[in-house]
Amino acid sequence: MNSRKVAIITGGGRGIGAETAKLFSRQGYAVCINYKSNAEAAASVVEEIVALGGQCIAVQADVSQEADVMRLFETVDKQLGSITVLVNNAGILKKQMRLDEMSAARINTILSNNVTSYFLCCREAVKRMSTRHGGQGGVIVNVSSTASRSGSPNEYIDYAASKGAIDTMTKGLSLEVAAEGIRVNCVRPGLIHTDMHADGGEPERIERLRSRIPLQRGGLPEEVAEAIYWLASDKSSFSTGNFLDLAGGL
Ligand code: NAP
Repeated sequence: MNSRKVAIITGGGRGIGAETAKLFSRQGYAVCINYKSNAEAAASVVEEIVALGGQCIAVQADVSQEADVMRLFETVDKQLGSITVLVNNAGILKKQMRLDEMSAARINTILSNNVTSYFLCCREAVKRMSTRHGGQGGVIVNVSSTASRSGSPNEYIDYAASKGAIDTMTKGLSLEVAAEGIRVNCVRPGLIHTDMHADGGEPERIERLRSRIPLQRGGLPEEVAEAIYWLASDKSSFSTGNFLDLAGGL
């Protein structure tokens, strides 16, 4: 059996998830990087981690799909061992538009990718971690967004609302499993330099909004990874149901 602690990072092939995977590996975790379609990006993160002596696997799974989530967790059970940490990070947004232009298909896609996915991964993690089910405990860190508080008017209210759901789920689940050895916390990043803004149709979005950020710059994925790691580590052992805002003061 693996002597290293085991972490699953959903959406670990790029952006915040990739930096989080690298940081967990540097801290001695065996890491599973989950991704949806960019196998090349995930493989390059695995290669970088393994070259530094880490243990890492990449598992393709669309975490909005129940069967894929089951397969993801079963693969980790078999290849890495008992999960200690789940980082729910995979997320999407769509082109900026007003709510009165949104189709039902778009709204459902955002909700299944950003909300159903986190619920399903939490369910599988709790089944394995909870002392109620014979587990050893563990930690879940959800990646939400400052959008849950701003509402993202004129950009993507659907995305913002999906993150609001994650804030509420974090609070509820943290209380539901607190006496079962599981801590559940949340980071809420602001404007972070990743590919995601291009998916919204505005790659230079951070530049447009930079002057509104009190620290006068966007954040780096590495800076978010540090907060995720802290919340997952024993350094935050008395923290559950808490939210760490990382938005340069925004
Ligand atoms: P990113 O660079 O676009 O990367 C997203 C990652 O999620 C990719 O690895 C992608 O897989 C994966 N993914 C998306 N849908 C998936 C699915 N259904 N199943 C499995 N994997 C899936 O995004 P990011 O900026 O790092 O965002 C990470 C998290 O931070 C998201 O939850 C996002 O909402 C949140 N966040 C970001 C910002 C920001 O400014 N960037 C701000 C606040 C919150 P592929 O590589 O295969 O496509």
